[in-house]
Amino acid sequence: MLPEDDEMMDRDGWRLVVARFAAEGGRMARRVLAAGVDVIAPPGCLVCREPTGAAGGLCASCWHELVFIEEPSCPLTGRPLAFAGAETDLQSVPALMARRPWARLRAAVAYEGVARQLVRGLKYHDRHEAARLMARLLGRRLAGVLTAQTVVIPVPLHRRRLWRRRFNQSALLARDVARQAGAIFAPEALVRLRATTPQVRLSGTARRTNVRGAFAVAQRARSMVAGRHVVVIDDVLTTGATAAACCQALARAGAGRVEVAVFALAGESASLHK
Ligand SMILES: [Zn+2]
Repeated sequence: MLPEDDEMMDRDGWRLVVARFAAEGGRMARRVLAAGVDVIAPPGCLVCREPTGAAGGLCASCWHELVFIEEPSCPLTGRPLAFAGAETDLQSVPALMARRPWARLRAAVAYEGVARQLVRGLKYHDRHEAARLMARLLGRRLAGVLTAQTVVIPVPLHRRRLWRRRFNQSALLARDVARQAGAIFAPEALVRLRATTPQVRLSGTARRTNVRGAFAVAQRARSMVAGRHVVVIDDVLTTGATAAACCQALARAGAGRVEVAVFALAGESASLHK
């Protein structure tokens, strides 16, 4: 064997060793990282951290705390019709309809306890795994509602808030809900024309004024929504002012049947009528 060949082999051998080492190192780094993530967030309940054996779910006791909203529910307020005082829904339909320009509102759960912690965990603490669970529950609530022709649109954040928060929690929900149902996900169909004061700081009337005219259908999305079945997705519905402003923008753009679906419905029975 010529010395050059020997040298070549050596070089190749080293190259192999280095490559093997790098691959092992990569695997090891990934293992260390995974272990690190487990140390920070061991697989367990998304809310109370109780070990559950699997990541991304709830423990039995948190699960039982969720208040699911099932049919029959009021098409306008989304509240279960079994609630005491449900007749009020029927008595004030014209007044309600004026403020609720959607064909149907559906919510998966009541905004309290565990549901509130899931929403806040996602919105303020980047707990993205909560979005997957929330989307599963909302998807279950929308079974049979979404078709391949349905356009699923999240309530948009203003770009300045999006930049600060880095993600739009409603878009994460909408994306997963659309994907589960094979519907059309249109994250940029609605745009926020101006930054608005966070609704959480305002009363009912102020909320309506705050978001009036704040949304529009993007020019390039107009043909996509015209005449179509549209479902607007948000994480929480409180007074409904934001969802209403979105539905009005969609109606102006000629959308067909516009519905709203939220993970959680806030408010005591009475406050939803104010
Ligand atoms: Zn728990």
